[in-house]
Amino acid sequence: MIELVDVHKRFGSLEVIKGISASVAAGEVVCIIGPSGSGKSTILRCINGLESYEAGTITVEGVKVDRDAPSITAVRTQVSMVFQRFNLFPHRTALENVVEGPIYVKREARDAAMEHGRQLLERVGLANKAGSYPHELSGGQQQRVAIARALAMRPKAILFDEPTSALDPELVGEVLAVMRLLAEDGMTMVVVTHEISFAREVADRVLFLDHGVIVEEGKAAEVLSAPKHARTQDFLRRVL
Ligand code: ATP
Ligand code: MG
Repeated sequence: MIELVDVHKRFGSLEVIKGISASVAAGEVVCIIGPSGSGKSTILRCINGLESYEAGTITVEGVKVDRDAPSITAVRTQVSMVFQRFNLFPHRTALENVVEGPIYVKREARDAAMEHGRQLLERVGLANKAGSYPHELSGGQQQRVAIARALAMRPKAILFDEPTSALDPELVGEVLAVMRLLAEDGMTMVVVTHEISFAREVADRVLFLDHGVIVEEGKAAEVLSAPKHARTQDFLRRVL
């Protein structure tokens, strides 16, 4: 479903993605781990067309991701993104945040979008918070609203960029639980995370990124429990 072939990306003179090739099949959960600055967020942003890239190709269901092409809106509606900071609109309720994209970007009928939005809030365990504003919600609840908002676009895949790392430790579990449910439902997910136990349990595959290259990839159990490369071993030793 998502295909990267020899992708390169630079910021000025700094090359931050140095030839990444990877693919994500429909229904697959792929976790990306790696040190700070290794290019994890950048690669997600390239997949979603939030960043351009200089060389290589990224396709989503066969359609090239080109930030400057008219087709980029279509790609963005097919691939939702959930960020570390939830980026909810502060003056809109949880439900209004969820239905914003469907109504204004996808031009769904308001009533249908609201109905779907309520179902999604229920799915993330927030049926009773539809009318609450972000400041009335905990960080974990806000992130669950952000996940409902991503789902509201009826995406084919969701990219998560460290969705729990801005949360107080006691709120991490509720967000991971929602993500686990999505994975069980067959959602295609790419998850940048430092939650190694989540990756071990939920990911089909793990990619270890360092200095803009994939140093090691494989089944979650293999990469996380028996890493082959010294850099992977070293990284896991530090985060575990
Ligand atoms: P972290 O774990 O800290 O989130 P990361 O793996 O997500 O790190 P990226 O945010 O992808 O890393 O950054 C990769 C490199 O690109 C870093 O060296 C960073 O400083 C640089 N970089 C990222 N965004 C920009 C930008 N907009 N302009 C210039 N350099 C950038
Ligand atoms: Mg990052």
